[in-house]
Amino acid sequence: MPERDGFSLKSCSLCPIRCGANRFIGPGACLAGALPRVALVMKHHWEEPPISGTAGSGAVFFSGCNMRCVFCQNHDISQKSAGEEKSADALADIFLYLQLQGAHNINLVTPAPHVLTLAEAIPLARKNGLTIPIVYNTNAFERVRALKLLDGLIDVYLPDIKFYSPQLARLWGGREDYFSFAAPAIAEMDRQVGALQTDESGLAQKGLIVRHLVLPNMRSDSYALIKWLRNHIGSKTRLSIMRQYTPMHAARFMPSLHRRVTDREYKSVVDYALSLGFTDIFTQKKEAASAAFVPEF
Ligand code: SF4
Repeated sequence: MPERDGFSLKSCSLCPIRCGANRFIGPGACLAGALPRVALVMKHHWEEPPISGTAGSGAVFFSGCNMRCVFCQNHDISQKSAGEEKSADALADIFLYLQLQGAHNINLVTPAPHVLTLAEAIPLARKNGLTIPIVYNTNAFERVRALKLLDGLIDVYLPDIKFYSPQLARLWGGREDYFSFAAPAIAEMDRQVGALQTDESGLAQKGLIVRHLVLPNMRSDSYALIKWLRNHIGSKTRLSIMRQYTPMHAARFMPSLHRRVTDREYKSVVDYALSLGFTDIFTQKKEAASAAFVPEF
């Protein structure tokens, strides 16, 4: 689906970068071409319990990304064009394959540049028998207008809210305007799916889970993000505070990012969220901060 609702892959403006690339001729700033490249399809067992459950989440990792996080754990695919191109038909088949393998859901990882193809693939998969929920696993650097194309198609939104400060967003994520887009994007996700709903086994069926990765030396930025969430989305939001930060990629060479998060740093962010009224918080054990939890591509 090269064009829809004012969006065209011939002059792409799907994400906040609005680079205008003709993706039929060459990749955009996110490295995505006209068709999504799928770098890895796997059952993922290390997501939050309502997502991974006992049988695993059916993860589909797209290559390319519209951010340039210096600590990216998936940099092998996010900053390269790895994997095979897949049409909407082929994506729908992958979703059905994962369902057949017993996955609890379809987990679309870094999907923003592929909204047009997904808006075609998801209804096709539903028509062909897909019944499990679709999870949209995003860095939240999204345009509200593009997210509206997915209204009614996505069951669970899983945004990772990264930076509040424009300076940090520029230094560590390559996008100074990150929060000015992530904030309305998360509000739109909340409007579409609302609070998290689970089935009798505790598996996510619909709703919003907001992730935040705690970084070393940046607690004040975490506090600002959590406060914004409380004030604008509400303290009933399911929050996932992650401590899996491991210095990888360019971050290994950066003095403020070259270590893991301390117990004190992590606990203070969780305590802050509790003090603002968040009660249902997913937390991670210290062991999560290991390269062993990063899928190989
Ligand atoms: S999704 Fe990719 S190609 Fe489209 S505007 Fe964003 S960076 Fe450019």
